[in-house]
Order: sequence, then C-alpha cells, then structure tokens
Amino acid sequence: MKKVLYPGTFDPVTFGHIDIIKRASELFDAVHVIVAINPSKKPLFTVEERVDLLKECLKEFSKVTVDSFDGLVVDFAHKVGATGIIRGLRAVSDFEYEFQMALMNRKLADDITTVFLMPHEKYTYLNSSIVRNLASFHSDVADFVPLNVKQALENKYVNN
Ligand code: ADP
Repeated sequence: MKKVLYPGTFDPVTFGHIDIIKRASELFDAVHVIVAINPSKKPLFTVEERVDLLKECLKEFSKVTVDSFDGLVVDFAHKVGATGIIRGLRAVSDFEYEFQMALMNRKLADDITTVFLMPHEKYTYLNSSIVRNLASFHSDVADFVPLNVKQALENKYVNN
C-alpha cells in the first residue's frame, strides 16, 4: 500500500492542485491531502474552511483523504505511514524553493521521498494568490477553481 502526502496551503484549492491530486491518485494507492496550519501566511480561508472546500471538491476521488496538520510534514508522514511527499512544479521559478524543501525533508527523514508532478500546461500560470486577487476585484474565477470555491470566494468578498 503506497501512501503519499500532498501538503500545501490550499488558500484556496485550484484546478492546478486538483490536476496534481488526480495524477498522484493514478500513481499511488492513497493520497492524503494535508492543509498546513500556518498562521504566519495570514490565509484568507481558515484551516477548517480550506479542509471543507477540498473535501467537497474531492469527494469523487475514492483514494483521497483530506486533513490539516501542524508541524513537520515528515513527522506527519511517519504518523500516518506515508512514504512520499507530492509537490507540484509549474515553472523553473518553483524549482529553487522546492528543491531546498525536498533536500531538507530528506535530511530530516531519508525514508520519505519527495515526488514532483507537473500539471497540465494550462495550469502552469495558476496559483491561489492570483485567484484571490481576481476574486477580490469581483472577476470571474470559474475557469480556475471548482464551483464551491468560486462561491466561497464570492462570499468572502461580498461586501468589499
Ligand atoms: P505552499 O504554501 O505549500 O506552496 P500551495 O497551496 O501554494 O502551498 O501549493 C501546494 C503545492 O501545490 C505546491 O507544491 C505547489 O507548487 C503546487 N501547486 C500550486 N498551484 C499549482 C498549479 N497551478 N499547478 C500545479 N501545482 C500547483
């Protein structure tokens, strides 16, 4: 049973994240999506909201579970018996940070391997912060996020 973690901020989940999750679930037996509790990032959505949005749009994926976590990803991996960490690579600009994280995680836990997946090229320009920005200007984000996320964004920005 090959279980992998897909950690991230998911503020909010986009079609880019979902593309990666779909690819991971075709490769592994179980994909555990974990939302980082990282107050220093001052997220728009609370951890509970981000988990609920992910659960709602991933309910068709039988191999995927969603949780939140605080602390080190490698500790969480040991706790749940995962042997890999999935990360998405969109462009060269992602590489340096992701490479550093992957090597640090390997230094911390050599039994956990980071695997990079590339989304469909139509998602390479997409990230959560662009989506938040567009939504804050009441621009339509239907091409970038599932309907439940679009509605949640509209609710956040309804009065401003
Ligand atoms: P983090 O703060 O951990 O980077 P994100 O939610 O921004 O959290 O991203 C989580 C993971 O998903 C990262 O590996 C990131 O590179 C990847 N990711 C984000 N957006 C996309 C996208 N459009 N296509 C593919 N991967 C993506």
